[in-house]
Amino acid sequence: MFDPVNTKIMDKPLILVVDDDELMRVLLQNALSAAGFEAVQAEDGDSALSLFTELRPDLILLDVFMPGKDGCDTCRDIRKHPEGEHTPVLMITGSDDAELIHRSFEAGATDFFAKPVNPELLVHRVRYMLRASRNVKKLAENQGRLEVLKVAVDSLPIGITFSDVKGVIVYSNPAEARMHGYTVEELIGKEARKFSSDSRGRPLATEQFKKIGLWRRECVNVRKNGEKFPAQLTSIPVRDSEACCLGIITTCEDISERKESEEKIHQLAYYDVLTGLPNRGMFLEHLHQALAKAQRDRGKVNLIFLDLDNFKDVNDTQGHDVGDRLLRLVADRLSACMRESDVLARLGGDEFVVVCPVVASQENVASVVKRIQAIFYEPFEIEGHQIYSSASIGIAVYPDDSLDASALFRCADTAMYQAKNEGRAQFRFFSAELNQKILKRVALENSLRNGLDKKEFFLHYQPLWDLKTSKMVGVEVLLRWQSSDYGLMLPSTFIYILEDSGLINKIGEWLLRAACTQALDWTLKGHSDLKVAVNISGKQLKHPAFLEMLANIIQETGVDPRNLELEFTESVIMDNVENTIEILRRLKEMGIQLSIDDFGTGYSSLNYLKHFPIDRIKIDQSFVADVNRNNSDSAIIEAIVSMAQSLSMRVLAEGVENSDQLHTLTLLGCDEVQGYYLAMPMQAEALTESLGKKHGKRVEKLPETEWFDRRKV
Ligand code: C2E
Ligand code: MG
Ligand code: MG
Repeated sequence: MFDPVNTKIMDKPLILVVDDDELMRVLLQNALSAAGFEAVQAEDGDSALSLFTELRPDLILLDVFMPGKDGCDTCRDIRKHPEGEHTPVLMITGSDDAELIHRSFEAGATDFFAKPVNPELLVHRVRYMLRASRNVKKLAENQGRLEVLKVAVDSLPIGITFSDVKGVIVYSNPAEARMHGYTVEELIGKEARKFSSDSRGRPLATEQFKKIGLWRRECVNVRKNGEKFPAQLTSIPVRDSEACCLGIITTCEDISERKESEEKIHQLAYYDVLTGLPNRGMFLEHLHQALAKAQRDRGKVNLIFLDLDNFKDVNDTQGHDVGDRLLRLVADRLSACMRESDVLARLGGDEFVVVCPVVASQENVASVVKRIQAIFYEPFEIEGHQIYSSASIGIAVYPDDSLDASALFRCADTAMYQAKNEGRAQFRFFSAELNQKILKRVALENSLRNGLDKKEFFLHYQPLWDLKTSKMVGVEVLLRWQSSDYGLMLPSTFIYILEDSGLINKIGEWLLRAACTQALDWTLKGHSDLKVAVNISGKQLKHPAFLEMLANIIQETGVDPRNLELEFTESVIMDNVENTIEILRRLKEMGIQLSIDDFGTGYSSLNYLKHFPIDRIKIDQSFVADVNRNNSDSAIIEAIVSMAQSLSMRVLAEGVENSDQLHTLTLLGCDEVQGYYLAMPMQAEALTESLGKKHGKRVEKLPETEWFDRRKV
């Protein structure tokens, strides 16, 4: 039979038998020995005590009635002994007198056994008591260990919590509580996940935990005062012997300092200390990313390399401090002129580089470059000195110049050196072809910029005719540029540059004032019904001061707003519809006429048209050109006419070049026409002259031909 006491746990337990009766001692000793115990004997209380001190028996069998020191006194002495507190003492008594039993227990006896002794039963009792004693001892030991453990965990500088399967904290050490600004008592009973500000930090459900075993993560935790801090959490499920999850133990460390130093290291590794801009390492990373994206999207990346001109002179003559200040100011101004998608970096020294992904057209790159150059127009104020600086700029384009990042970089570098060699403050593209194109465009823009001051712009006016009355009912104002560099330029060659560069606002204002002055002049000359139609670009319409500027011009020139018409293309009015409708409504309130230009080339959203307060639709000349050759064009014109009629809008056909077109357009129901066949765009004087002759009469060029007769039918 398996006996845990004798065979497994305790190797022959030692029993001290105390009895004045020798026969009894021998009897007991034999019974114990036979049961596998070791036994020693004492005949009185004193020798029992000295044997106890010497041998530390595991159990004492103690006779109550002994001469001299009796069992109760002996028991009391043993209990007083430093090692005797927990030793089981089994009193052997001749009687089952309650008083005696009471005295025995008072004296510290563990149990008692009545004489006459049945040795077999006694051995069982001994076994039982030894087992109980061992358990008590173990418990006491465990208790002690637990206390040490608690002290240790409580004094750990790292936060520790134990939460039950529902995620409720059942234990927290003081470090955890301190870290979160609570007392330990406040933490107990709270849900652990409440301390994470983001869901990543929330403890997983216990089920998931069973699979994971260990879960380490970084998250943002919240203190009692709402302050957030980065924390490193590690959670482990705690299981019982059946592997059933009892809860989760989680360690929590405040890693603010680590994060700060990581941030500092990152800053040092990826940013330039002087300017705070990304450094070469970061730039290369961005360049690779931008190229990879461009490859996926089949886009382009422009790499702009920039080197300050004569920076060495600043360092040599003004000192390195001033040089550093200049670099910082340049970095600030450059940063301010970048778009969000551009990455500006300092490579070291006076070299900067910009990665510009997905720039729609090369013209836009030129404008980025020009913005960069413009930051050098104003001097840099350093220690009371004004320092002028400039930069040489080289541009390489992915994928045109190279597919490879470092080769592209060399291309931009080469282009920059080329720019430097050709004088200060220059820029060059790596590709010769692009260089030519962009240089041309920049030169054109520069010429345009000076055009107003040099009075190179003038206006042409092209008559608009009413088909029913055959009268000239208005004129369209068309911009002309008599450039000293390029000769006479038509709008198609330069309007887009005016729009791109923003010059359109300044020139547009000049043009409106000139057109209104002219309109008033014609009114004063007796042509008070003549409308003057001015083309307005999207940039102008969207300018916040457009309405105010227009109102001022009307007031200053004294023109009647009813003589003024504004033309917008479809794409202009369809961009930000809500806003546009509001502006158009305000224009109408001012008494101005509105028309949609080049109709049919843009969105052609007839549905939308009814929302706009439009007086006139101008059908694009491309439909007119083929109206007699292409049935679908005439069908489109017919549809536009019928829709316009239903919306009470008038229809004008643009670009009428011959009588056949005029004829068909009349049949199709157009109200008005404009075109070379009827009149070319002309100077104001010429128009005034023709007005003098023709206004109020039939259109000179409307011949009394077949179509005219048919119209009458
Ligand atoms: P648009 O507003 O549709 O102006 C009509 C254009 O058609 C004018 O060209 C005019 O000369 C031309 N044209 C007139 N009759 C005929 C014809 O029978 N046949 C042909 N083939 N063409 C004819 P222009 O002056 O070269 O202007 C071109 C465009 O430039 C204008 O188209 C307008 O969109 C824009 N534009 C002109 N002046 C201004 C302006 O002051 N401001 C703005 N924002 N744009 C302007
Ligand atoms: Mg127009
Ligand atoms: Mg047009």
